[in-house]
Amino acid sequence: SAAWHLVRRPNGEVVDDDVALVEHELDDPGPGEVLVRNTWLSVDPYMRGRMNDAKSYVAPFALDEPMDGGAVGVVEQVGPDVEGLAVGDTVLHGLGWRERAVLPGRRTQRVDVELAPPQAYLGALGMPGLTAYAGLLDVAAMQEGDVVFVSAAAGAVGSLVCQIARLKGASQVIGSAGGPAKTQWLLDELGVTHALDYKAAPIRQQLREVAPEGIDVYFDNVGGDHLEAAIGALRLHGRAALCGAVSAYNATEPPPGPRNLVRLVQNRLTLRGFLVGDHADARPRFLTDMAGWLAEGKITWRETVTEGIGSAPEAFRSLLSGGNTGKMLVRLEPD
Ligand code: NDP
Repeated sequence: SAAWHLVRRPNGEVVDDDVALVEHELDDPGPGEVLVRNTWLSVDPYMRGRMNDAKSYVAPFALDEPMDGGAVGVVEQVGPDVEGLAVGDTVLHGLGWRERAVLPGRRTQRVDVELAPPQAYLGALGMPGLTAYAGLLDVAAMQEGDVVFVSAAAGAVGSLVCQIARLKGASQVIGSAGGPAKTQWLLDELGVTHALDYKAAPIRQQLREVAPEGIDVYFDNVGGDHLEAAIGALRLHGRAALCGAVSAYNATEPPPGPRNLVRLVQNRLTLRGFLVGDHADARPRFLTDMAGWLAEGKITWRETVTEGIGSAPEAFRSLLSGGNTGKMLVRLEPD
């Protein structure tokens, strides 16, 4: 069974020599353990931080060991003393970047493939979905009637933020993304009121044009120029949920800060960073709302899929440079 190792800490963008696909012999599952054959691997922007040797909220990936991350798979073998799991069950777990994994059954979560396809639990019904929901409604405290601005709006998290904002009564939803195909998707299917192509003109200028009266909420996936533009546009008591800063993840030098922070004083703004891991309390509300929206056909999503274990590093590289629309995934074929 093959697994991707990090063999060198990347400098800037991940290159082929930073990673290696290594064959492992897997033991049979022991007491309490299951063997899972992965069918879908998630690649997520936060993994770039784990490739650096820097202290953060998750430990760095160890060199010369399998990397990990979100995955969905099928239980192939069940060890002794495993309760509630059977061969053939589809489960979500944290040992991605590999074809097969042996892990404690309690570290997996069985998913309902009647409600949604398995890979949705890595996207709309999973971590990115909860991030969008908790970030917008709890962290930024979006209220009905708010003008909401979302960056990386055609990505996994951003595309859900746009739709949740609309469903919860935002008066305007402004999304930004790179390129006309993505902005067209935002307009046609995600129901945004304005879609800004940040590659076509400076985001600050475009935001001012579509929201001359300003915005109430900013959901920040990007940092950099987008955060500065949003600070400039946030009106009195505006709120921003700082979710990520993907524009700087491959940077080799720390990016310059927003130059207009005095606006926080003038407009009594709240900018609040958050991690989805601290928002488990929102999960029941999220699942109830999301299941309802799915059943009523009110939420849509896209996936960008690469094929086979060999494609995982390329999927990851592509994610950080905008090669994805919606959730970036790696599909593993059954062998
Ligand atoms: P996405 O699906 O949004 O993929 C990343 C996107 O970033 C790309 O598609 C690209 O879209 C965009 N991007 C890359 N470089 C730039 C740039 N220089 N300027 C503007 N946009 C850029 O990933 P996710 O939805 O998984 O994650 C989105 C954000 O949310 C990330 O910052 C991530 O770290 C964060 N996150 C935070 C969590 C938390 O707990 N705080 C949990 C999950 C995610 P385009 O083509 O439009 O440029």
